[in-house]
Amino acid sequence: MKKVVVIGAGLGGLSAALRLRQAGFEVQVLEKQSRPGGRSNVLQENGFRADMGPTILVMKEAFEEFYHSIGEDMQTRLEMVQLDPNYRIYYHDGTHLDLHSNMAQLAEAVEEVSPGGAERLFEFLGSGARKYRLGMDFVGRNFDRLTDLFNPLAGLRLMRTQAHENLYRQVARFFDGNDKLTKAFSFHSMFLGLSPFRALAMYSLITYADLSLGMWFPKGGIYSIVEDMLELAAQRDVPVRTNAAVEEICIEAGRVVGVRLEGGEFISADIVISNADLPYTYRKLIPEANRKRYTDRKLAKMAYACSGYILYLGVNKTYPQARHQALFFSEDYRANLDAIFEDKTLPEDPSFHLNIPTVTDPELAPEGHSLLYVLAPMPNLSADIDWDEAAPLVREKLLNRLEEILDPQIRQHIVWERDYRPTDWQADINAELGTAFGSLAHGFFQSSYFRPHNKARDIDGLYFVGQGTYPGIGMPMVMISSRLVTERLVDEWL
Ligand SMILES: Cc1cc2nc3c(=O)[nH]c(=O)nc-3n(C[C@H](O)[C@H](O)[C@H](O)COP(=O)(O)OP(=O)(O)OC[C@H]3O[C@@H](n4cnc5c(N)ncnc54)[C@H](O)[C@@H]3O)c2cc1C
Repeated sequence: MKKVVVIGAGLGGLSAALRLRQAGFEVQVLEKQSRPGGRSNVLQENGFRADMGPTILVMKEAFEEFYHSIGEDMQTRLEMVQLDPNYRIYYHDGTHLDLHSNMAQLAEAVEEVSPGGAERLFEFLGSGARKYRLGMDFVGRNFDRLTDLFNPLAGLRLMRTQAHENLYRQVARFFDGNDKLTKAFSFHSMFLGLSPFRALAMYSLITYADLSLGMWFPKGGIYSIVEDMLELAAQRDVPVRTNAAVEEICIEAGRVVGVRLEGGEFISADIVISNADLPYTYRKLIPEANRKRYTDRKLAKMAYACSGYILYLGVNKTYPQARHQALFFSEDYRANLDAIFEDKTLPEDPSFHLNIPTVTDPELAPEGHSLLYVLAPMPNLSADIDWDEAAPLVREKLLNRLEEILDPQIRQHIVWERDYRPTDWQADINAELGTAFGSLAHGFFQSSYFRPHNKARDIDGLYFVGQGTYPGIGMPMVMISSRLVTERLVDEWL
């Protein structure tokens, strides 16, 4: 039986390990941290259970496909609840807009913001549907050569949807320059770590997917998916070793022979799959003499996504009027994004994502309490920011806003609190430059064929899974990446 070592127990590493075991490989997973999950980790303290990273699931079918591929049924293992609305958007002037998956309700909400807006909404969604189909042609497949990109039908769709245009400008055109609607239908690229002012219009496919496929939350939180995978791994003889940081991928005559852990232990393998950040893997785990393609110079030149600051709060009251997911857009939306992506400075007035999972699942907090997760996108660690100084400042700004939009007395109700900073992602999971959602930004030349491939082209037996390779950032993409690397290994090794 071919022996596989997977470096990292993120969702990509765990799902690849289970798929490969099902296919007949001998697999073990080595995880640096004391608890598996990677970016999708959990904080369990004082009766609160907070997802630390991802909070919501889109493209649920990518997870269903994973379970199906290993002979399981997701429906019977996880209890998924659909959010309604998907988001509440809070604007700086005190108004809000609910983004529903129900089209009639969404149209009504849009009409209230801009009379006649419903017609433009459906034009926008029609274009989003075409972009989604175009995107999916490139998302669910392995790439080997540049010609794999050529597809005349896709070219036609690209022309029809003008997917190569600038995202923000195109959305503004759809909504006749209405500021509130343009913000509400363009922010989604932030989840790929990209400013809507920089992203390709192609990425409004994410807005379309959110609205048309719905947003889902597993009871118990996102970490219940990780726990379920760990249970399956235990049943199927897939060891997941924690506190096992890999220090080097060992290579002899251009082929992997195993890995060496911190402390010196050598583990032999026919195949090594890295789920750790791809730029980090190349830079730190592979001696430069063995890297023809990803030299330190090339890695330094690549474009990296943003980071974030998260405040987790346990409060001793509930908010029946609140929604599970909300976004607050600062008055100068552009200045906030430019600070993060262009100037690399601390945003003056941060926009943020507010998640209150206890709206859907009260069991994530003690009775009568709520769990709040406030995520403000921030520059990555290429910025000159001292996070010991910056964190208390950002916390104050976020609490001031929560007083305005949620509860004027919120500070008095906080009974538990933690935060997470760009430096934490770097220290905990070796995220390059402390990037949050994923490391490599999704510009054109870091997407599909141009994103690092899931098979190292210069080292035999080395593969990748997770956000660093294609299709890219986000949990459903990571689940697809584990399917793609499994298909490749089955094809090449069995
Ligand atoms: C704040 C935040 C919010 C997000 N929100 C959403 C959301 O709502 N929906 C969504 O779909 N996605 C969201 N994402 C994105 C999503 O979480 C990630 O894209 C995805 O979880 C990445 O998974 P991965 O498999 O690539 O690996 P990662 O989660 O990056 O895991 C990599 C693992 O490798 C381990 N590792 C690193 N180096 C070593 C080493 N040397 N030896 C051993 N192990 C090592 C790490 O410790 C880690 O466990 C969010 C991310 C963040 C951070």
